[in-house]
Amino acid sequence: MMNINKLREQFPVLDQQVYGKPLVYFDNAATTQKPLCVIERERDYYLHENCNIHRGVHYLSQKATEAYEHARQTVADFIHANEAREIVFTRGTTESLNLLATSFEHFFIEKGDKVLVTTMEHHSNLVPWQQMVQRHQGQLLVVPMDDNGVLDLEQYEKLLQESPKVVSIAHISNVLGTINPVKQMTAMAHQYGIPVVIDGAQSIAHHPIDVQDIDCDFFVFSGHKMYAPMGIGGLYGKAEWLEKLPPYQFGGEMVDTVSFEKTTFNVLPYKFEAGTPNVGAALGLETAIQFLQGLNKSEVEAHETQLLQSAIQQLSEVEGIRFIGQAEQHSGLVSFIIKGVHPYDLGTLLDKMGVAVRTGHHCAEPVMTRFGIPGTVRASFALYNTIEEVETFIKAVKKAAMMLR
Ligand code: PMP
Repeated sequence: MMNINKLREQFPVLDQQVYGKPLVYFDNAATTQKPLCVIERERDYYLHENCNIHRGVHYLSQKATEAYEHARQTVADFIHANEAREIVFTRGTTESLNLLATSFEHFFIEKGDKVLVTTMEHHSNLVPWQQMVQRHQGQLLVVPMDDNGVLDLEQYEKLLQESPKVVSIAHISNVLGTINPVKQMTAMAHQYGIPVVIDGAQSIAHHPIDVQDIDCDFFVFSGHKMYAPMGIGGLYGKAEWLEKLPPYQFGGEMVDTVSFEKTTFNVLPYKFEAGTPNVGAALGLETAIQFLQGLNKSEVEAHETQLLQSAIQQLSEVEGIRFIGQAEQHSGLVSFIIKGVHPYDLGTLLDKMGVAVRTGHHCAEPVMTRFGIPGTVRASFALYNTIEEVETFIKAVKKAAMMLR
C-alpha cells in the first residue's frame, strides 16, 4: 500500500488552508504540484551548476551540458524512445505541436492539404494545425465521437481515405478523460502511410508510455503535468522523421555553419533547439521522472483509479448530475454539470470551501459545442490525493448545488 501521508510530505504546497479550509487540490490536469526533490534539483542547479550549455570549454559549462544531456537520456528511457537524439526539449506540449505544424508546413504541405484531428482535442492540438492548413486553403478533418465521448473509428477509417497529410490525436482527453486507442489508430493511419502525432499531455503522468510499442511517429508532452517544473516539456520523434523535417526556430546551437550566403544545420536533436534552453527545468524534469520511477507503478495506478471511481460513484448520487465523458476506457478526471447550476458558479463556491477544481471549456471549445453545454466542472486527480479529499469534495458539491439551485 502506498503511504500517502509520507508522500504528501514531498508536497508542502498541499498543506495549506484556503479561506480557512484545508486545501483540496483537484486541478491536476491543469498542472500538478511539484515534489521537494524536483524543487531542490532546480535550486541546486542554480546554486552550483548554472551555466550556458554546449558552448563552453570550461568546467561549469561542461558539467551543465552533461547534466542536460543526461536528462535527455532519462526522458528517452522513460518513454522508451530508441535513442536520446529522438527527444527534443521544448517549453511543453503547445510548443511541441507548434514546432511540428510549422515544420510539416515547410516540409510538405501544399494547397488544399488536410490534417486529421478529433473532436476532443485541446486547442493546442487544433489551432496550430487549423491555422497551418488554412494558410494553404486546406482543411481539418475531424473524427466525431459518441455521447459517451468515444471516438468513432469507422468514421476515422473513412477520413483516413481522404488522405490527410498528418494525423494528430490526444492520448487522453483533458475534458472527458477518454483514453483513446492510440496504438490501433496509429496502425490504421500507417496503413495509409500517414504519420501520427500523439498529444500525451494528459497521459504521461498516469500511464507507462512506450512510444515504440504505440509506434507513433511523434509524441508530445509537458513536464508541469508530471510533477516537473513549468517551462519544460518534450517532443519525441522517430529519428527518420526528425532528420527530414526542417528546423522550427533559428539561432544559437541549432546551426552547423553560417555565412551570409548560407546556413547549414546541426545534427539531431540540436537542430530543433534554438537559443538557450531551460536547463534547470530539464534537470527538474529528470528528477520528476526519477521520483515517478521510485514509486510502485501499479500501486499508483490503483490508487488513482480508486480516487476516480469513488468520485464518480458518489457524484452519481447528486441530483441532476450529468457526466460529460463516460467512456469505458477512462482515466484521471471526472467532468460534469448539474442541472440548473452554472459550472462557473459551482466552481466559485467550491473554491470558497477550499476545493480547487477547474470550470469552463478547458481549452476544448468544440467539445462543449458537441455536448451543447457552456462548460463543465472538472475534478482531476494525482497520486498525492486522498479518499478523504474526495469525500470533502463530494460534500462540498452537494452543499454548493443546494445553495445554487
Ligand atoms: N493537450 C492537452 C490534452 C492538454 O491537456 C493540455 C494542457 N491542458 C495541452 C495540450 C497544452 O499543454 P501546455 O499548456 O502544457 O502546453
